[in-house]
Amino acid sequence: MNPQVQATAAEIEQSLYEQRQKIYPRQVKGIFAVLRVSTIFVLLGMYFIFPWIELNGIPVVWFDLPGRKFHVFNYTFWPQDFLYLAFILMLLAFSLFFFTALAGRLWCGYSCPQTVWTEVYLWIERKIEGSRTQQMKLDKAEVSFKKIILKLIKHIFWLLIAGATAVTFVSYFTTQEELTNQLFTLQMGSWELIWVIFFTMATYINAGWMREQVCKYMCPYARFQSAMFDKDTLIISYDEKRGEPRGSRRPGTDYRAEGLGDCINCTLCVQVCPTGIDIRNGLQYECIGCSACIDVCDDVMEKMSYPKGLIRYTTQNAIDGKPTKILRPRIIIYMIILALFSSLFVYSLSQRTAINLDIIRDRNQLYRETQGLIENIYTLKLINMDEEGHEFKIEAGGINNLILLIDKETVFVEAGTVADLPVRLRASEDDLKGRSTEVQFTLTAVENNDLSITQTGKFLGPIQ
Ligand code: SF4
Ligand code: SF4
Repeated sequence: MNPQVQATAAEIEQSLYEQRQKIYPRQVKGIFAVLRVSTIFVLLGMYFIFPWIELNGIPVVWFDLPGRKFHVFNYTFWPQDFLYLAFILMLLAFSLFFFTALAGRLWCGYSCPQTVWTEVYLWIERKIEGSRTQQMKLDKAEVSFKKIILKLIKHIFWLLIAGATAVTFVSYFTTQEELTNQLFTLQMGSWELIWVIFFTMATYINAGWMREQVCKYMCPYARFQSAMFDKDTLIISYDEKRGEPRGSRRPGTDYRAEGLGDCINCTLCVQVCPTGIDIRNGLQYECIGCSACIDVCDDVMEKMSYPKGLIRYTTQNAIDGKPTKILRPRIIIYMIILALFSSLFVYSLSQRTAINLDIIRDRNQLYRETQGLIENIYTLKLINMDEEGHEFKIEAGGINNLILLIDKETVFVEAGTVADLPVRLRASEDDLKGRSTEVQFTLTAVENNDLSITQTGKFLGPIQ
């Protein structure tokens, strides 16, 4: 084979299968670091605390799969409430589109679980193995007792965090109390055990070993986010016009006269980057928008007595010297959709009752004539989604002189169950409005008239 072709093939193979170079992100201090750590505290706090807090004796967030109930704060959702789940998913999706179009990868940099847990793991690593330089030195050093002990302690802590994460995750589905009992009596159910092991390993591997690899190679969001960006989206960018030509300099010298820009080429922005990229090479899909390079570069600029913001949040238009438009059609459309979905969600939630009624017509017979009247047969499904059982009464209306025939005056439906109730309606042919007439069934709790729902069905008769 031609040696040139051979070399190219080897290069391609290397670029495809290149071995991962471990990244040792340097610790960074600054305004964005404070913001990121605060967000992480709040998110982790919510994640670990929610299964422990109870409202009316029920965890604030509990997905009770065997009971087919989802408790979220004071609300209990049932499979029949699928609409709300659809609303929530759409709200989350459009929020992501909106914030990405507005301010880039805020989600990745500040609140993605991969970022949050990786930050925690990096913090543990620094506490045990020391600074970036010390970690690099330790990894290069020969195997020694100290090295083995430090690595062992680090992995034990990582596994403990992973285990706590997994147990907390499973306790969103099995109550914390039950899970703790199972853990201490070593009687954990097989499903719980499988999920605890799975999430422990997933957390440990993703946050401890794979880290930026997840963002670079596994996360689909990193790939399609560029479709949501435009020239007015906030991005983290290096000001090339101001920074170049980069180069080191002696303090107090007139670096401009020497033909240098503001970048002193300290490479600190590369050293703090959790994905190991150089922001000075332009916007790259590997950039998760964590702002660590802004903090560290601002610090360098301050020490050099240069203006801050050599690396900063800006827009492509601003970089090109054009005006930036915050309110642009895409943002306005996302805002309208978000406002619409939020209002619909709040409205439907405010109208939601803890009971439901499904009307199922008898499929065997459209109608029958009996005692000179037209009769229709139905099965009513009474769904009690409340936390307690209720005695219900049924009423029917919509046609003059309508007769409701029912075996029992009231029917008791246990909390969280569905009861089938066969009913018959009779009406005179003269009172019908045509081949099909609307009828209303009303289900009301006997002890609480506010707990009531009305549904409309069809009453069929002969062609008139
Ligand atoms: S931190 Fe700032 S000054 Fe240092 S290399 Fe990066 S851009 Fe240049
Ligand atoms: S380039 Fe800057 S903002 Fe992007 S991931 Fe690296 S440090 Fe974070």
